[in-house]
Amino acid sequence: MSIKTLVPVAAAALLAVTFLFSPNAAAAQKPAARPNDLLDAVAWTETSVEHNLVFREIYRAAEGKLLEALHDKHWDALPYNERTRGYEAFKPAVILDIDETVLGNSPYEARLIKEHKEYSGSSFAAWIRQERDRPLPGALAFTKFAASHGVRVFYITNRGKFLDKATTGDLRKLGFPLQGHAVLGLGTYIKGCIQLGSQKTCRRELVGRRYRVLMEFGDQAGDFMTVLDNTPRGRRKAMEHYRSWIGERWFVLPNPMYGSWLNALFHNYWEQPAVRRRREILDHLPTNQKADSK
Ligand SMILES: [Mg+2]
Repeated sequence: MSIKTLVPVAAAALLAVTFLFSPNAAAAQKPAARPNDLLDAVAWTETSVEHNLVFREIYRAAEGKLLEALHDKHWDALPYNERTRGYEAFKPAVILDIDETVLGNSPYEARLIKEHKEYSGSSFAAWIRQERDRPLPGALAFTKFAASHGVRVFYITNRGKFLDKATTGDLRKLGFPLQGHAVLGLGTYIKGCIQLGSQKTCRRELVGRRYRVLMEFGDQAGDFMTVLDNTPRGRRKAMEHYRSWIGERWFVLPNPMYGSWLNALFHNYWEQPAVRRRREILDHLPTNQKADSK
């Protein structure tokens, strides 16, 4: 081999060795992190003007309806089986869920994506304790509007009761109306009512024992009523009787990031490996042949 041939070969070999042992090369050779299915949903929630407009639209529409509701003594937003006899004479109240209804947690969800982690109760509790939640557009204005018209504001959340103090502190700091025990977390003891899992039934009933509930707000079907059959079909069926209340007594906020709608797609079996959950979710998506069958 001539010297002319050897020089380029040696140079190529040196380049290859340099490439193989440089930190950037090592990173480049790692398999790319698996795409996170949450990315688009979190990006929409965190950055899009459309997200903010939908929230404002819903809360503004609710303000208009609230005045109408105040003047109608038979107006009650509790499911029929959760009402207390004689509610017509009670003082008015509204019930709002907290997460993704009043306060937004998309920064927490964004961190999960960036750190390649999944949701866990402990990391979410740590996030709540930092009290860095942000009010969702329109929520503060609506709750203040309601309070200024003599309407009590209750927050029924499936955050554990042990987080009530942090949650209340956050809401107070942000200026949300808080009167008495306004935050009812999961685990609140209610005499005479049997708690079913994480259902909000008993806590709604508790409010309904003393108040006429004019409106409910939430991002999950279970924020409005008891949903025992958490399947796509069961959820649709449960809501059927109350369709006319949507946008009138019940106000549903969008949450594409997580929720019982998603759990319903994998039989509520969150503990199974993520890859299996994903496969089950995919099975619910239509093929071209059955795209119109929903
Ligand atoms: Mg929620």
